[in-house]
Amino acid sequence: MTKVKRVYSFGNGKAEGKTEMKNLLGGKGANLAEMNLIGVPVPPGFTITTDVCEEYYQLGKEKVIELLKPEVEEAIKNIEKLTNTIFGDKKNPCLVSVRSGARASMPGMMDTVLNLGLNDEVVEGIAIKSGNHRFAWDSYRRFVQMYGDVVLGMKPESKEDIDPFEEIMENLKESKGIDNDTDFSVEDLKELVIKFKSAVKKQTGQDFPTDSYEQLWGSVMAVFNSWHNNRAIVYRRMENIPDEWGTAVNVQAMVYGNMGKNSATGVAFTRDAGTGENIFNGEYLIDAQGEDVVAGIRTPQQITLEGSKRWATLAEVSEEQRKSKFPSLEEAMPEMYKQLNETQDRLEKHYSDMQDLEFTIQDGKLWLLQTRNGKRTGAAMIKLAVDMLNEGMIDEKTSLLRIEPNKLDELLHPIFDGAAINKAVTLAKGLPASPGAATGRIIFFADEADKYEDSILVRIETSPEDLEGMNIARGILTAKGGMTSHAAVVARGMGKCCVSGAGAIKINYKNREMNIDGKILKEGDWISLNGSTGEVYDSKVDTKDPEMSGDFGIVMKLSDKYARMHVRTNADTPHDARVARDFGAQGIGLTRTEHMFFEGERIKVMREMILANDEEGRRNALNRLLPYQREDFEGILEAMEGFGVTIRLLDPPLHEFVPHEEANQKDMADEMGISVQDVKDMVESLSEFNPMLGHRGCRLGNTYPEITEMQARAIIEAAINLKKKGVDARPEIMVPLIGTVKEYKMQEDIIRETAEKVFKEKGEKIDYLVGTMIEIPRAALTADLVAEYAEFFSFGTNDLTQMTFGYSRDDAGKFLKIYIEKGLLKYDPFQVLDQEGVGQLVKMGTEKGRSTNKNLKVGICGEHGGEPTSVEFCDSVGMDYVSCSPFRVPIARLAAAQASIKKN
Ligand code: ADP
Ligand code: MG
Ligand code: MG
Repeated sequence: MTKVKRVYSFGNGKAEGKTEMKNLLGGKGANLAEMNLIGVPVPPGFTITTDVCEEYYQLGKEKVIELLKPEVEEAIKNIEKLTNTIFGDKKNPCLVSVRSGARASMPGMMDTVLNLGLNDEVVEGIAIKSGNHRFAWDSYRRFVQMYGDVVLGMKPESKEDIDPFEEIMENLKESKGIDNDTDFSVEDLKELVIKFKSAVKKQTGQDFPTDSYEQLWGSVMAVFNSWHNNRAIVYRRMENIPDEWGTAVNVQAMVYGNMGKNSATGVAFTRDAGTGENIFNGEYLIDAQGEDVVAGIRTPQQITLEGSKRWATLAEVSEEQRKSKFPSLEEAMPEMYKQLNETQDRLEKHYSDMQDLEFTIQDGKLWLLQTRNGKRTGAAMIKLAVDMLNEGMIDEKTSLLRIEPNKLDELLHPIFDGAAINKAVTLAKGLPASPGAATGRIIFFADEADKYEDSILVRIETSPEDLEGMNIARGILTAKGGMTSHAAVVARGMGKCCVSGAGAIKINYKNREMNIDGKILKEGDWISLNGSTGEVYDSKVDTKDPEMSGDFGIVMKLSDKYARMHVRTNADTPHDARVARDFGAQGIGLTRTEHMFFEGERIKVMREMILANDEEGRRNALNRLLPYQREDFEGILEAMEGFGVTIRLLDPPLHEFVPHEEANQKDMADEMGISVQDVKDMVESLSEFNPMLGHRGCRLGNTYPEITEMQARAIIEAAINLKKKGVDARPEIMVPLIGTVKEYKMQEDIIRETAEKVFKEKGEKIDYLVGTMIEIPRAALTADLVAEYAEFFSFGTNDLTQMTFGYSRDDAGKFLKIYIEKGLLKYDPFQVLDQEGVGQLVKMGTEKGRSTNKNLKVGICGEHGGEPTSVEFCDSVGMDYVSCSPFRVPIARLAAAQASIKKN
């Protein structure tokens, strides 16, 4: 048996891992290794593999430590050798960080501990060795704080309370009359450490561990545990990251950004993650460590001079003040800036994608601590893909694969209406952290985001615990924090509008209100955010539809070049058909006719038809419905001129059309000259126990053939009328809900006979198709028989899912959520096609159908037609098209292109 390797070392230009090993080493670990290999300065360390996380959950702590011990001790020795220090030594100690790192990046979702290895003696050693007591004690208080939080579980008691350590710090600041963490004296820091440790003892009953290996194992296990903390679980669910993946653990020698004025720490993006512009940008803080920049503790400074000037304008800071108090890295440390700029350029070229970097400057030396493909908004995703294609960095296929289809959705959302904006009252200005428009009611706690239908989450700053609420809220506003704050980064990842660091806002969580220059706004009050300018407006501000930008068009054109399948739309009205056409739909995959019976006078005539006692009565009413239907069909066929329009015959149970309220029943009785009781009786007689499995679909047309006759006539007449006007109408008549070939054939015969009749009457012919929906499992199982007659199939995967699972679509809401939480289902099968089960029927139906009719046209018209993974599946079974709602057409076009590219 070969020995399992659990630990991979890196450092000093060497590494056992590389980028391609993301699955095993996690994204962070794999890239730390890779950066070593390409000569970027990275503190030495090692990665414990994601497989060990799984072992930990199976075998438990003790056993895993036993398995890891020899390799970890070896790897620590390697760090000691490269840094010339000793782990746990009192004179020349080696301190490390312990960091999580999953396959897919989950920024801030899991926990990190810095400065590990400190205790009361080691801290003195560090102080003497560095000659910097402040730095030593600052590191120590940070360590106790992080270890206390992450490993020992020191959390605030309720959501209105602040963090127990923050509280101690705030109290000390107040009593000393200081504002910033950097103003603490050495004595203050010593006092903090003592107070922190006694708070730990008081809340957890445990002494703070002093042994460095005990600290190390505690932290490693805490990282494994954090894989299953709430916010990580929520994040995985949102991003569809499997629970089984597990996290790797990275242990790495510390480098110190908190060593004084010649040290700093920061984060940077090689391009703008909000807009996609090719501008290097980021933020840093002098004499700071770790998350200080993103946590909004002090106002972060900009990296580039240009960025700094932009920031100053937005933050209304004068040039003089900017230069003296908030200089850019470019100005403050020109040599460091030069190196960082070269490194970012190198990393972007190496990965051929926009990078999100973490760096630390320790006493005039630059170190990189992380690089990853940066999260971005939908707009930035498109611009980056197109720009990098134009720059020759990536090819067309890669460019298309770079865009997540669902992200296009963001670009299809409303923006503020110009006139409304001019009238809007600006309350405050923050940073344009994530573009977009949002209007909603104020809430102050993330777990209350669903209190209103449209809510705006307002926080001093956000933290990873707030994730779920941020996702629900329409927009996010923070009082503190910069462009790389947690709120900003997460919002951009979600494509959610965000304004950060609006300093004029004073929030009082306890009273659930905020004060903006004397104006009080309470929970539930309306505000609006402009994430593109940073403006915060009073009340609701009207929005309008977005315009498609140039890059969007390029991506769509490119998609059509690579996609094998066409994309159609589901549309019931000429307006929807036109909208979809503008989005690039090539035809209609589903026009439902039932809604056409509800408008105005029509419903009365429809009810007369349903309530009629005999065929003659029905024909009478149907004759009056015919002109309405014909007119509707003319409208929609004209709007989709030149493309196929699939029209489904009447489908829902008749019961849905009849009057259920007393007053309407009386109206109906008067209209028809019968008694109210008669109407009631007839309504009663139509009621069914299981209407979705009852008298509906082709069962209507087969029991009342005159309904099919009327609809077929209306369609054919509409097409002939259009032909006379010179419009190229292409109707495809679709029979719903068949289970047997005979059910289909009877309908087909009626349709074809009617069409011949109309041709004769009008002395004019048109081309049309007759086909069927495949939505009952039996139809899929006997598709070869059906296809002997049908010219096309359209998989109605909503009903097919309902009938294959035996889940009532209208009742499944109650248990599906619980099923997904419990892991019984991965997705809601009504949203994401169940490839394993329902997919078999789709595949078999397509194959069997084509076995008897090789020209059979096949498509899908369920909700799934606009869902990217389902679109990929449809491509794999060889469908000719997918059909989806108008606003999802661009998403489906891109998804179809990606499916073709991935296959080849
Ligand atoms: P996350 O995954 O949440 O970004 P990280 O593991 O990247 O967490 O670490 C949190 C912060 O600590 C980052 O700012 C990172 O740069 C910093 N950090 C981590 N390890 C070290 C180290 N060895 N030396 C200095 N800073 C570090
Ligand atoms: Mg990080
Ligand atoms: Mg159906």
